Parts: sequence; structure tokens; C-alpha cells
Amino acid sequence: MPELPDLVHVAKVLSDALVGRDVAGARTGDPTVLRMMVPGDFAPAVVGRAVRSIERRGHFIRFALGDDRILVVNAMLVGKYRLLAPEEAAREKDPVALGFALAFEDGRELRYVDDKRMGKVYVATPADEARIPVYAALGVDVLSPAFDRARFAELARRRRDQVRPFLMDKTALASIGNAYADEILFEAGLHPKTFCRQLSEDDAARLHEAIVRVMREATDEVARRAEPIEVKVRDFLKVRLRDVCPRCNAKVRRAGVRGMDAYFCPHCQPAVRSGLVDWTKTGR
Ligand SMILES: [Zn+2]
Repeated sequence: MPELPDLVHVAKVLSDALVGRDVAGARTGDPTVLRMMVPGDFAPAVVGRAVRSIERRGHFIRFALGDDRILVVNAMLVGKYRLLAPEEAAREKDPVALGFALAFEDGRELRYVDDKRMGKVYVATPADEARIPVYAALGVDVLSPAFDRARFAELARRRRDQVRPFLMDKTALASIGNAYADEILFEAGLHPKTFCRQLSEDDAARLHEAIVRVMREATDEVARRAEPIEVKVRDFLKVRLRDVCPRCNAKVRRAGVRGMDAYFCPHCQPAVRSGLVDWTKTGR
């Protein structure tokens, strides 16, 4: 899925390219992902409006069109944004999984494509924002100055669940997905099945630092690569989808944590809780 570092890049590229331009045309392919919160069809709801801003909020991208229209997109697992040059837009037919397309007067097009139809595109007015699921309840943005050590410790103290589901709870922390949850726990040296209540003060401080470092470094790296926005840059990840730990050469393990697939190094992220399988003692 596009995660925070990808979405920071997407929002920047789209903002640089499209803010100030008028939406000249619009269409939907498969309307499954559309959530119309204003009356009428998609095209009349957006055509003729100028793009005022394009911002990331948590794992959503918010497009302000004119004074009173917004598109709020949650790309979920596989939603992709593409910005097509005029010649590409003219040449390339809409994919079956087109969520929506916005065409601009210079011939460029923004297309949102969602092969799994799991994403959501809310077409709304700013007054509706408080009713958009998850978006209205986003927790503290982990790239913002408000996300400091005290705030994090306070959030963690209240949790009864494991640390990985906590990291991925968008109403607590905005927003960490599967890939970066693994990277953060690796950075902090914490086993993904650790419970929040098992975290010492030091653990919590280390985990907070790991979140900030991993997310900022990834954001910088994705920006530095400057790939087209539909490309997911993931080759710099250390444990996610890896076979061997880059730090100690142990075999990276996979475990199900609350229905999610977690990758971790059994040596660098030892289990501390009794009852967990100690992978370091079971051999390969
Ligand atoms: Zn290791």
C-alpha cells in the first residue's frame, strides 16, 4: 500500500503540478470506490473547479476543489495515483480498475486506480469532513512536531494490546502501515508480539525515537529518489520482505500478529514475554 513516505511524495508532486489549475473534465471507471456525500454524479461535482490545495492528512490525500468541494482519498492496500502527460493521457485507455480521473486544460490527467477496489474516494464539502470514517478520527501525525516523547508515552500507557496493532491504529498514530510497522520495531529492537504494558520507560522512548527516525528517513529517501508517483520505493527496507537480517545475518522470521503478516529478526528483536516461542533457541 502507499504508506506515509510514499504519500508525502505523492502529495508534493501533485500539489506542484496541479494547484491553481481548473479541472476541465472528470470521469469514473468502476464506481465501487466512490462515496458521494454531495448530490449528483461525480463529474458535475468537480468539473470547472480550481484545485486549491492537495495535502496529505494521515494516510489520506485531501484535494480542495474550489471553495466548497473536497475529494478525500484513502488508497488502502493497492490504490495508486498516476499523473499522465498529455500524450500519455491521449494514448492510454482507462484501466478497468479506474477509480476516477481528473483532466486538466493542458491535457494532463490525474488517475486514481485501485485494482482491489478497497480504497475509498469521498466526494464531499468541508462541512462533511467530520463524518468521513477514520479520517475524522485520525490520531497524532507521526511527522508533526506534536508527536513528542511525552505524547507517545501517554498513548502507549493506555493500551492493552500488542505493540504492533498499537502502531497501526490510525486513531492513535497517523499513520503507520504494515511495512513501516516492521521497520520501526526492528529499529527499536522490539519483538512484534510485545504487549504495550511490557514496555519499560526506556523501551517507550526508544520506540518513539524509532518511529520518528524510520518515518523521516524513509520520507527523505522516497523524495530523493523522485520516482513517478505510482512507483512504490521499498528496496531500502531492512526486514520487511527480507530473508536475512542486515545487522546480524540471522534468518528473518514471519509471524501472524492479529491477522497481519509481521517480519522480524529473532536475534535483534528477542521475545521478552514468557510463552512466546524463543526463535533464537529453536535453530533455523
Ligand atoms: Zn538481526
